Amino acid sequence: MAVAVYPGSFDPVTLGHQDIIERSSRIMDKVIVGVLKNNSKSPLFSVEERVNMLKSVTGHLSNIEIQAFDGLLVDFVRQCHADVIVRGLRAITDFEYELQMSQTNRVIASEVDTIFLTTNLKYSYLSSSIVKEIAMYHGDIRAFVHPEIAVKVQEKVESRTGKMPSREQ
Ligand code: ADP
Repeated sequence: MAVAVYPGSFDPVTLGHQDIIERSSRIMDKVIVGVLKNNSKSPLFSVEERVNMLKSVTGHLSNIEIQAFDGLLVDFVRQCHADVIVRGLRAITDFEYELQMSQTNRVIASEVDTIFLTTNLKYSYLSSSIVKEIAMYHGDIRAFVHPEIAVKVQEKVESRTGKMPSREQ
């Protein structure tokens, strides 16, 4: 049975992430989405909120599991008895970082390999940071995230700023 770990911050999960999850679920027998806990980026959503959002948008896929983790990714991969790490590639900038991470992981855990799925062209520009930035300025994020996630982001931004982002833009 081929098992993959797809790690990330998912703060919040975007349609780009969902595309990678759906495509890897067709290739692998099981995909464990690993949600990083000890995030130096000080996330907008808590790890529990990020796990729950991922669960709600992947509920239709029977071979996807969502788990929070912290510590070394290779330790989480071993703990999951996974065969590979899956990562998404959007641009050259992703490539440099991803190459470094995958090679580092091979040095510290030689059996842990990484496979890359290139982004769906329609999501090649999309990142969680862009979604948060647009939401902070009260822009409409419904083209970038699942409708349920758009509501959660808008509520979170509202709770932080005390204002409701416009849904009409
Ligand atoms: P990280 O904090 O590890 O960068 P992210 O949540 O930003 O976590 O991303 C997790 C993974 O999803 C990474 O491999 C990233 O390259 C990939 N990814 C993010 N956005 C997209 C997208 N729009 N298309 C394809 N892959 C993406």
